[in-house]
Amino acid sequence: MTQPLVTDLKGVGARVAERLAQLGLFKQSDLLFHLPLRYEDKTQITPLSAVRAGTWAQVEGVVIHQSIRYARSRMLVATLADDTGQILLRYFRFYPSQQRQLQEGARVRCFGEVRLTNSGLEMAHPQTQTVSGSGLALSDHLTAIYPTTQGVSQALITRLVDQVLERLLRGELDLPDYLLDLEAPRATGHGGVNSLQEALLSIHRPKRLDGIQALLEGKHPAVERLVREELLAHHLTVTRQNAARAQHAAPILSDQAPTTSDYLTRFRAGLGFAPTTAQERVIRELADDMGQSKPMRRLLQGDVGSGKTVVAGAALLMAAGATKQGAIIAPTELLAEQHHRTLTQWFEPLGVEVVWLSGKVTGRARTRALERIAEGASVVVGTHAVFQDPVAFKHLALVVVDEQHRFGVHQRLALANKGRRDNDCPHQLVMTATPIPRTLAMTAYAGLDVSVIDVLPPGRQPVTTVAMSQVRREEVIERLSAVLAEGRQAYWVCPLIEESEVLEAEAAETRAEELTKALPQFQVALIHGRMKAQEKQDIMARFLSGEIQLLVATTVIEVGVDVPNASLMMIENAERMGLSQLHQLRGRVGRGQNQSACVLLYKAPLGEMAKQRLQVMRETTDGFVIAEKDLELRGPGEVLGTRQTGLMRFRIAELSRDAHLLEDLPNWANKLSPQAQAGLIDRWVGQAEAYIEV
Ligand code: ADP
Ligand code: MG
Repeated sequence: MTQPLVTDLKGVGARVAERLAQLGLFKQSDLLFHLPLRYEDKTQITPLSAVRAGTWAQVEGVVIHQSIRYARSRMLVATLADDTGQILLRYFRFYPSQQRQLQEGARVRCFGEVRLTNSGLEMAHPQTQTVSGSGLALSDHLTAIYPTTQGVSQALITRLVDQVLERLLRGELDLPDYLLDLEAPRATGHGGVNSLQEALLSIHRPKRLDGIQALLEGKHPAVERLVREELLAHHLTVTRQNAARAQHAAPILSDQAPTTSDYLTRFRAGLGFAPTTAQERVIRELADDMGQSKPMRRLLQGDVGSGKTVVAGAALLMAAGATKQGAIIAPTELLAEQHHRTLTQWFEPLGVEVVWLSGKVTGRARTRALERIAEGASVVVGTHAVFQDPVAFKHLALVVVDEQHRFGVHQRLALANKGRRDNDCPHQLVMTATPIPRTLAMTAYAGLDVSVIDVLPPGRQPVTTVAMSQVRREEVIERLSAVLAEGRQAYWVCPLIEESEVLEAEAAETRAEELTKALPQFQVALIHGRMKAQEKQDIMARFLSGEIQLLVATTVIEVGVDVPNASLMMIENAERMGLSQLHQLRGRVGRGQNQSACVLLYKAPLGEMAKQRLQVMRETTDGFVIAEKDLELRGPGEVLGTRQTGLMRFRIAELSRDAHLLEDLPNWANKLSPQAQAGLIDRWVGQAEAYIEV
């Protein structure tokens, strides 16, 4: 069953197709599941006497005056009048063609947001159409406004959706309605939806009285119908993956085998601390799983600083002890490098070989690393480069993925396929510090067994958190200076600038210069995402050794960095960051024996949401509580970071809103024919992703 692709639509060349792909739009039907962000009401004309500031309105009238004004720059203004009143149209940028369109005496229709200014009511840059003699028809439905991306204009995406809807209505699009027979027919009428086709029309071309608010909030039966499809598709995918996995065998890695047992004893003795009961319990759970001939798929959740690396280390030794191989990968060079350091320090005394491989390892070093991996080196540490094509393992028995939500779908796909030979496949342990609220865990991690490290290593002092207005920066710098003078270290995190990594880096550079000046007696260094990996590593190494006292950073240090002597974390523009991100950043301190502090600098005035977030941060350091709050405040897509990373990329469903639909899924799934099941998976999940075995 091949689905027609967007490339077969009018107006879609290779470049546009590429851009559409960025929006996740490949098949024509994908456009139908690309839901509007909002709607514009062009179904009526508002008399000018009735337009209100702060609303969007469509008005029509005659231009009675036009002029060019010079304020800060040249602008075009025109006065539009109908029988009831007047409004000013203002264009800060304009073309000669617009000047002609708005010449005095012309009849035009405008749609835009109405504002009240000193000169009365006006619209800036309204959408403008010329009304010819016979007049212009009014739309009979609301106009959908879609999410777009660079190179895909609103007009283009609207034309494409129109084309696909046309095809659907003419019966030219193969879009089976898999749920038609399953769902009890609803009463038609307001919000009534009986078929997939009706649902799609209600969403893309709603009538004025169609429950627009419900549509936008995803509570309309039309949206619910799509959500059900999507959740069902995911459920079916997971069921399939579980069944497929059950067919595989995995190497038995017993922790009782003599070599392994010896490694583990010496490993524990060399740590310099005793693993916590929680760490020991999880190590036991892993050993029990890996001691069996079926592949482990286990998720390890542990708050930042809970000591997941020790657990990973023990698991890797179980592979090494069986003369097999284990690999551990992290999403950034910085983190991977840190693992490499830690594991080398732990394993070298045991005579267990650790090989380092990242995209940055090239030339002879790379050849050598590949050789050792092929010859059976026990432990491989690196970034996802470890799972790229030329890397061949002798016998990969365990894969550990750290901070797995940071990896993209394709990386995870490559990873799942690596090390699979014949029917044999490696055990897998994925580790995350993002606590998943219970309501989500079941679906997000369906098919994985979950272990939790729920106690922090002893002696940790909870991090005290304060929020301060940015205007008190001087005070903050004094405090910082005092902490550094005691021989401790600190981080200064610069604001996140989402639009531009370049701007972000620049801002961080400026801040680093300021702080260098303000703290001449200390070593200040800068680290940001645009620096070369080698540079970043050098700086981290110098920070770890204590040579650098203050690390000015962008949010690159968010995950996993472990420098126990750092005890002060400053976060600028904290009001703009999400709770989970703040929690991750704060987790960089409070790792040693020192009392640590986190200062959240904010720019006043604070919005309601920002206030609440900072409040939560001050009140608790419990990752689970924070995650639940985050879920409440922002919704699950954000909490899980799935929008970007594809852990369970829902296009439409939102678990916090749609959780009540989960319960029916197994029942519905059973009623679907195998063809319908395959069709749903193909429609919502895609063939490739359906086979990822996380
Ligand atoms: P995370 O779970 O965030 O990855 P790490 O594995 O980086 O945490 O561990 C954080 C710090 O705690 C490290 O410095 C590590 O050596 C230390 N640590 C781990 N387990 C213990 C323990 N049981 N007792 C004392 N310190 C520990
Ligand atoms: Mg970690």
